[in-house]
Amino acid sequence: MKAILMTAAGEASVLHCCEVAKPELPSPRHPRVKLAAADINPLDAKLRSKPVYHPDDRLMNLIDTHCHLDAAEFGEHQAQLLTAARAAGVNHIVVPSVTRANFDAVRRLCEQHPGCFPAYGIHPMFVDDATPQDLEILRDYLRAHQPVAIGEIGLDFFIEHYDQARQEYFFTEQLKLAREFNLPVLLHTRRSQDVILKHLRKFYGSGGTSTRLSTGIAHAFSGSKTQADEFIRLGFKLGFGGAASYPRATRIRELAKTLPLDSIVLETDAPDMRPEFIERGQPNKPEYLMRIAQGLAELRGVSPAEIARATTENALNVLPELKKRLIPAIILP
Ligand SMILES: [Zn+2]
Repeated sequence: MKAILMTAAGEASVLHCCEVAKPELPSPRHPRVKLAAADINPLDAKLRSKPVYHPDDRLMNLIDTHCHLDAAEFGEHQAQLLTAARAAGVNHIVVPSVTRANFDAVRRLCEQHPGCFPAYGIHPMFVDDATPQDLEILRDYLRAHQPVAIGEIGLDFFIEHYDQARQEYFFTEQLKLAREFNLPVLLHTRRSQDVILKHLRKFYGSGGTSTRLSTGIAHAFSGSKTQADEFIRLGFKLGFGGAASYPRATRIRELAKTLPLDSIVLETDAPDMRPEFIERGQPNKPEYLMRIAQGLAELRGVSPAEIARATTENALNVLPELKKRLIPAIILP
């Protein structure tokens, strides 16, 4: 994609989930993160020497399973964003990449900031500029840098003039890599759930516990109940975030309310997917995940602590590499 139109982060978020028929696109994710030693918050340095997670906090420990912390909108304020996130109980963040061009920024960011974990992948909105050689570079990254997932990958049939064949090529090639490395995938499924499910059935067989393959997360889920059930049957979790905070997002709210709690993980997709409680034009941030969890708790009539416990456990179950790295610092009830 040569030029992706900028929209206000909030607009992108509503578009993403509620699929308002306006040809606007999410903001670009090109890297510009250059963190100097001076940017590292003293708290980060302190946290390096001890576990970032304390068992006593476990009831309100949240994992943001999808946050573009390297996005241009955040400039070089990652340390401050993470301090605010931790203060709100968001201690662990999965940072997906979107193109070969930001693999390195994502890697460095996650090395510099405890609690951040990388995923590498080529996003469907970036396949126009991708080449088969990028898949080899991705393979090298997967081998050398131990990501917790492959992502963000998938299909997007909402953008204008999309090339479905090209998107499917990069998607399926990355599913092959997921199988090769037995890594879970972070899926972008905008207007493409059925085609994605068709490919997943091929790769993940009959699904459920019969597969030994790592599965993944259908991020920013906005499909139907039938599609949700099929993702779950295949062993996938569904990512819910700011979109569920909009009263008019009735379908997403109904799913967030009624799907089995063990199928749900939380995410912000920051800086996109602005929740309803944030002023229009302001970027979404990982610290808002606690309010998203509170909203979900209200919808389901359970305590926020119950939502935190369940979604953290779900995230660790679907992201085994993340679980491995947090243990023994983390002890789930
Ligand atoms: Zn994303």
